[in-house]
Amino acid sequence: MDANIIKRNELLAQKVIKGLGTRNMTGYYAADKEEALKIALSLIPEGSTATMGGGMSVHEIGLVQALKEGNYNYIDRDAAEDRRAAMLAAYDADVFLASCNAITEDGVLVNIDGNANRVSAIAYGPKKVVFIVGMNKVCNDVDGAMKRARNVAAPINNQRFNGNNPCKKTGACANCKSPDTICCQFLVTRYSKHPGRIHVILVNDALGF
Ligand code: SF4
Repeated sequence: MDANIIKRNELLAQKVIKGLGTRNMTGYYAADKEEALKIALSLIPEGSTATMGGGMSVHEIGLVQALKEGNYNYIDRDAAEDRRAAMLAAYDADVFLASCNAITEDGVLVNIDGNANRVSAIAYGPKKVVFIVGMNKVCNDVDGAMKRARNVAAPINNQRFNGNNPCKKTGACANCKSPDTICCQFLVTRYSKHPGRIHVILVNDALGF
């Protein structure tokens, strides 16, 4: 990576981390995916029950694999016979893993969801939430973050799913009300009521969508 990009990302990450601190959330900066994995594992004690509700970035740093191979109780909803039960178990997990669709320079997290299992668990339930966030997701303000979530993250996410949403054909959001829409619930996390619950690891890399 170009040295100027690295310098800019380091500086911008410090601004985001400062903003998170004012919102009762804790931020970290990882120089690469390997360091992100180390920080994440330092936040998840062995024996913890952990799960997630989707999030490419969590996979991309190798965290899901590490939890599956390590001494953890990882709830894999994709492998569960009863997917609904696995998703409900997330609300009582020790740790919930997530990425975000966008984050502002002053630490506000923006997420869009279809089923809402992900955004609801971020909002309440799991004792700890660990976000893995590439620096590609940092936006200037909430308006920019919402635009990124709706016009970049959601149309790309939609390419993964079956369905007939307009963005699947055009790549652009049409603000649809399609029965298959994945844009049902919007969560803006501007403050955490519970100290020590939300942790955000900013990674000097382009992760997820
Ligand atoms: S609102 Fe509809 S068109 Fe827009 S990103 Fe979501 S699913 Fe696609």
